Amino acid sequence: QVQRALLALTIPLETLQAVKGRMLQAMCKGLSRQTHAQANVRMLPTYICSTPDGTEKGDILVVELCQRHVRTLRVTLLGDGNQSPQVTYKIFDMPGDIIQGKGEALFDFIAQCVRQFLAGISSPQHRLPLGFVFPFSCRQTQLDKAELISWSKSFSCSDVEGKDVVQLLQSAINKQELHHVDVVALMNDTVGTMMTCSMRGGPCEVALIVGTGTNSCFMAEAQQVEMAEEISGQMCVNTEWGCFGDDGTLSDILTPYDQHVDQESSNPGEKRFEKLVGSLYLGEIVRHVLTALVSEKVLFTGSSVAILRTKDVLKTQQVLEIIDNEEGMAKARRALEALGLQPSEQDCCRVQQICRAVVSRAAALCAAGLAAILSHMCQSRELERLVVNVGVDGELYRGYSRFGEILQSVTGLLAPECMATLLPSVDGTGQGAAVVTAVALRLAAQRREVDQLLDPLRLSRADLERVQALMRREMELGLGLESHANASVRMLPTYVCGTPDGTERGEFLALDLGGTNFRVLVVRVAQDGIRMASEIYVIPTTVMQGTGEALFNHIIECIMDFQLKQDLMEQVLPLGFTFSFPCQQLGLDKAVLLSWTKGFSASGCVGQDVVQLLREAAQRKQHLGLKVVAVVNDTVGTMMSCGYDDPKCEIGLIVGTGTNACYMEEMQNVGTVEGEQGRMCINMEWGAFGDNGCLDDFFTDFDRLVDEKTINAGKQRFEKLISGMYLGEIVRHILLALVEKQLLFRGKPCPKLQTRDIFQTKFLSTIETDGLALRQVRAILQDLELQASFEDSLLVQKVCQTVSLRAAQLCAAGLAAVVEKMRENRGLAQLAVTVGVDGTLYKMHPRFSQHLQQMLRDLAPNCTVTFLQSEDGSGKGAALVAAVACRRAEP
Ligand code: ADP
Ligand code: MG
Repeated sequence: QVQRALLALTIPLETLQAVKGRMLQAMCKGLSRQTHAQANVRMLPTYICSTPDGTEKGDILVVELCQRHVRTLRVTLLGDGNQSPQVTYKIFDMPGDIIQGKGEALFDFIAQCVRQFLAGISSPQHRLPLGFVFPFSCRQTQLDKAELISWSKSFSCSDVEGKDVVQLLQSAINKQELHHVDVVALMNDTVGTMMTCSMRGGPCEVALIVGTGTNSCFMAEAQQVEMAEEISGQMCVNTEWGCFGDDGTLSDILTPYDQHVDQESSNPGEKRFEKLVGSLYLGEIVRHVLTALVSEKVLFTGSSVAILRTKDVLKTQQVLEIIDNEEGMAKARRALEALGLQPSEQDCCRVQQICRAVVSRAAALCAAGLAAILSHMCQSRELERLVVNVGVDGELYRGYSRFGEILQSVTGLLAPECMATLLPSVDGTGQGAAVVTAVALRLAAQRREVDQLLDPLRLSRADLERVQALMRREMELGLGLESHANASVRMLPTYVCGTPDGTERGEFLALDLGGTNFRVLVVRVAQDGIRMASEIYVIPTTVMQGTGEALFNHIIECIMDFQLKQDLMEQVLPLGFTFSFPCQQLGLDKAVLLSWTKGFSASGCVGQDVVQLLREAAQRKQHLGLKVVAVVNDTVGTMMSCGYDDPKCEIGLIVGTGTNACYMEEMQNVGTVEGEQGRMCINMEWGAFGDNGCLDDFFTDFDRLVDEKTINAGKQRFEKLISGMYLGEIVRHILLALVEKQLLFRGKPCPKLQTRDIFQTKFLSTIETDGLALRQVRAILQDLELQASFEDSLLVQKVCQTVSLRAAQLCAAGLAAVVEKMRENRGLAQLAVTVGVDGTLYKMHPRFSQHLQQMLRDLAPNCTVTFLQSEDGSGKGAALVAAVACRRAEP
């Protein structure tokens, strides 16, 4: 019979595995917005989003509400990695009637404790932040806003449930005239434990309490905590797992002894998990096992056993003493004899076995719960392996070393993918609470400093309107014959006077030079569409920045290689040359280079006709079959290629390595070209907008640092705020400044971050992608040898967002000037126009296009602007320009 009882109390590993699975389900139910209301495991958000990093500093007041007393502490944190916090504390016994009296009386009492405590330590009168440890289920909506859901543990003060307990405490404190004390954070005792354990060694991201009751908390991915408003980062969740099983999910492991314990408790049917694990119930479980065995006449034969029917005669403390290896037998005898029983040696031995079984079961169940938490963390962080510290507190864990051993080993079996180190909490929750409070203060102060630093990068609506107006002015200047020379936006005529009409036909060669890649293409324009084949060639930096002769030789070699591969050596195909640098165009096939941009600086080219340079190189290489018919800017190519599909497309926009735009302007407005009839496409070269100083107000220190280090300092200022070649650099300089100000990476110097261009613009896209766990950010930063905390990652994300948002909005201001001018040109109340867009930044960044379009709608409400992404605008467009040219040349 004894064996049977012991067996009933032993849960096999498969069953524990199943319990873990059910706990995981219950946790998910608690986290989800839809099912939260019905969940037993409530998974309450705590609004604690980080563990301490050791820089917390200052005097903090803590008030802990306990079962029978109030503890007040003053903790002085020195910002020394929490090596030696100074703690003064005082314990105030609570009159018994208070916990069932009026709520106001309870909070008045707590506030009086605070006043007495402060009087005793002659505290300074400067502001004192206070952290409140309140070990009851609360619906928290901020760190300092928490409604009590329901009392438990024999508390039942009136008028508190449903109210904000932070407010109640603050009012009571104010009544005591302690106006310098601010309640800034409220937390559960599990959270306090987790934080206390985080103060020593590495961060601690899980805490268990196995005392009178049981509960746990852990750092969850914030986006999974659907009940909280936060969307990124992490947040500590208070599981309230004591209620696990209240819906019957634990019925298969409940023994008749557990059913008796539950029925005799003050809250039958509730807190079923807690009643298997919490020390308040273990003595009772043992008593019911003994009672059953006595009635089966296998224990204490001959004694009077009536005493065993009395509730709570066997204390948990005694159970813990009995299971002790050395003195357990003697303790068992003493405990049983104290109850008036006359135990035999065998009785003592059996009682010890039973006590052990009950406590071991509690430890194993606790392990199943912990394993569920760990697996959940591991899964939601998408890790193969989770390494984590677990803070543990409570008399059961502290009182019995086997408890910890079982907890550790069973957790290992149930969650083999996780490596958990158990850290016993030495001084409860007080220091942890101080740290939470300090973290809350530190984060608020940091947020203010970060905002200050980022503020110059945030443009107001009025700023953007000013940029739009300036762009408009520069456009007018650029178009005027007299003013042209002084404009920063050069408004270059392209001699492209119409968009395609769909009748273009033929086979063309195209070159695309002026971006990341140099490409050679063959384009076949036919009735049923456009087909292309292309090849990418590398232009080494040494060639980009060497002599013009070498550059154009290289280009011819690439063309020859391409023609060989495509079997085009025998044909003389018309060639369209996409050359994406500012050129003074004198005809469709005559373009004088005005300046290099985007990292090019080949000598002997500026001031020369690039078509001529290409032809000379062809002669040097004895390549005779080359017929250049058009030089095209990539913006124009993009406009043309989109225009082939959409006749409304009269604007081209590039946001890639650089940025630029073109649009169809009325000939009569183009002062730099003869003729008044029709329209001509104008290559704005808007990247140079601001080179005359008109944007100086908008440049930040970071922009100046980026500009100084480029090979064209002082030039292409607008481009340097917007395009792919520079955004990563701007971010890098901001990060350096944040490190310098000790706001990032704990101020630790980052040698790799000193390297130019190491923070690539494509990182912005990854970092700003929705739903990508901050893990991704960390991985990117790790590659740069930067050890980022989660707050660090959040901050880096914020910086990227700020920089890309500004770029998109500036781009919108520029476009707003263009579409408004076009609308006015045509005397329309409303203009509908399409923009053909190309460039990897525009296409790949998760937010850029959205922000751009939104801001444009705002700034140019009378224009309906459609965006059409061009596919290979540079190649296709060059061919189409060539085709249009050839068609016109035909008789
Ligand atoms: P180009 O403008 O040189 O013709 P692209 O349009 O492909 O070529 O733009 C290349 C630039 O786009 C790169 O210099 C880089 O800064 C940026 N870039 C590359 N990948 C991404 C990405 N995933 N997100 C944002 N920007 C990117
Ligand atoms: Mg390009």
